[in-house]
Amino acid sequence: MDTKLKQLCQTLQLDPASLGLVKSNFPFKAHADFIEQIETGQPDDPLLKQVLPIEAESQVHPEFSHDPVGDLKANPTPSLIHKYHGRVLLMASPRCDIHCRYCFRRHFPYEAQINQRHWDSALQTIAADETIHEVILSGGDPFTLGETALVTLIEKIETIKHVQTLRIHTRTPIVAPSKAPIDAFLNWAQQSRLNKVMVVHCNHPHELSNKTQYCLNAYRQAGFQLLNQSVLLNGVNDREDILIELSHKLFAQGVLPYYLHQLDRVQGAAHFEVTLQRAQALMETLRKQLPGYLVPKLVQEMAGEPYKTPL
Ligand code: SF4
Repeated sequence: MDTKLKQLCQTLQLDPASLGLVKSNFPFKAHADFIEQIETGQPDDPLLKQVLPIEAESQVHPEFSHDPVGDLKANPTPSLIHKYHGRVLLMASPRCDIHCRYCFRRHFPYEAQINQRHWDSALQTIAADETIHEVILSGGDPFTLGETALVTLIEKIETIKHVQTLRIHTRTPIVAPSKAPIDAFLNWAQQSRLNKVMVVHCNHPHELSNKTQYCLNAYRQAGFQLLNQSVLLNGVNDREDILIELSHKLFAQGVLPYYLHQLDRVQGAAHFEVTLQRAQALMETLRKQLPGYLVPKLVQEMAGEPYKTPL
């Protein structure tokens, strides 16, 4: 068994033989900050379920694919994804601080996409297209790039005059807040001309802690608009009380709920899927019990569509 998984089981006082673990090309990965938030002795812990490679992942489902949102068909130059009007997604890093088992890019060929040469041609493509006013840094997770390299990349984007907004999609402030970029990154943010948006990814209220609070507060004070996207996951957060608590806790940490994603149908993640009927019933309760600004939009990304589809 993977040594890190063995250590995890020891830390959490779990019997590995009872967990149905499998070897995977997308191996187990979780930062210590995330592991700290998992309850000891609880094999059904909602955070643990997001990171354990289990037998259900090996089942092949004909309706699930390796590229469920059509990234590779919207890839005009390596490292760049251009699906939606006015904005492009630049892949800044192939790595993450966690391997979420339901990740829609778990099979993505990052090695062929991300390097300095590809970034240079991606930046040239952005500079040549004046309709692009927003650049989204994604990955992987851009915050795994290293602070100096991240700031250097952002400063190059900032020199393109028609780019008005920088958006960062990151799970690091939630799953590894103690290693999220702070110093040089905040210095850049405080003096930047760009509008700054950060979309974090938090699925369950237990993922939020004093450490996430500190980190998110620093980004908010530096001028970032903070939004959250969650994925609706069977056995993790598919309950009204959990989603309501999540919205309240996010707001208490300065983050507005933005999207609740219906699962992207990626091969290996079918056991996380929640039916559309159940998802819509959950949303009905959220609308009844939360103020409008705390109700996320239920959406699904459909390959080839010009925007995320509201459900
Ligand atoms: S942090 Fe995002 S990109 Fe990384 S594994 Fe999780 S879902 Fe995938």
